[in-house]
Amino acid sequence: NRIVAPSFKIEEDEKETALRPKWIEEYIGQDKVKNKLKIFIQAAKERKEPLDHSLIYGPPGLGKTTLANIIANEMGVNIRVTSGPAIERPGDLASILTNLGEDDVLFIDEIHRLNRSVEEILYPAMEDFALDIIIGKGPSAKSIRLDLSRFTLIGATTRIGLLTSPLRDRFGVILNLELYDEESLKKIVKRSSKVLNIKIDDEGALEIAQRSRGTPRVANRILKRVRDYAQVVENGVITKEVAENALKMMEIDKLGLDSTDKKMILTIVENFNGGPVGLDTLAAATGEEKETIEDVYEPYLIQIGFLNRTPRGRVLTRKAYNYFNLPYPEEELE
Ligand code: ADP
Repeated sequence: NRIVAPSFKIEEDEKETALRPKWIEEYIGQDKVKNKLKIFIQAAKERKEPLDHSLIYGPPGLGKTTLANIIANEMGVNIRVTSGPAIERPGDLASILTNLGEDDVLFIDEIHRLNRSVEEILYPAMEDFALDIIIGKGPSAKSIRLDLSRFTLIGATTRIGLLTSPLRDRFGVILNLELYDEESLKKIVKRSSKVLNIKIDDEGALEIAQRSRGTPRVANRILKRVRDYAQVVENGVITKEVAENALKMMEIDKLGLDSTDKKMILTIVENFNGGPVGLDTLAAATGEEKETIEDVYEPYLIQIGFLNRTPRGRVLTRKAYNYFNLPYPEEELE
């Protein structure tokens, strides 16, 4: 139950629908994505067509689901939300597709986890708004084609590399969400504080922003825990000092790293002399899932310049050694 691990959607996050921006103008940061999207949305609306099928990718907690909801809102259509693992059989997807209204959005989270037989239903649906159904068995089997309403498929994934190319090629719009900078996260913390009626000053918001690993979901979680601390231990207002004390209690350091990050970094230092170490080996040595390492630890450690990905594996940087006060292994001279 790591506060800083954005991939587990805990119930508290999901209940907080008030924190989700509803319109593109309220969606903070990600300017490149927003600028593209505004143009595509306006163009589709002017032509009275649904938006092209869109793929949103990036690490967990960056706002993919939020953005899908915003697109539906801006287009003025309904959204149906599901996920790759939830659609088990082709029939499940067929029934979702036949129940969509004209121009609706179908949002499939974790779309890289769709199984192959389900995915094949999607191809004609995306391309021709049609469903190919086989009736009967053996030599008398016939394929019939059913027309579907026009719709927009929005897929979200943390792993664009795991998408098959026939699926990826059928998306007309591809949007890449990146980790947020400090300024954007600070705005998100202030916006969320307003929504939740939390008193916070500028420096308090900045302190939380700096420790949120570039991730809005983490920022919102930390904000709520700091609020608890401020309410019980202090006078209810989140200042820099209050945030610092609360985060110290939560054992989240200046850069948003916790004991699990530290453990992984020390494993690379102690067992692999700083690397390079392959992902499988690292997963085995730390007892973490490969996916968790790739989705949760790495993007942030790479962003803060602690870790490099090389063809031979992951390598810790001098910056990481310095941060943890460890002696950097100098290359031995031949
Ligand atoms: P993902 O689907 O990528 O895992 P979500 O869309 O569920 O992420 O976003 C996580 C939380 O972060 C949301 O509840 C939302 O409140 C907040 N959030 C995400 N992106 C933004 C943003 N650009 N501006 C404000 N809040 C955001």
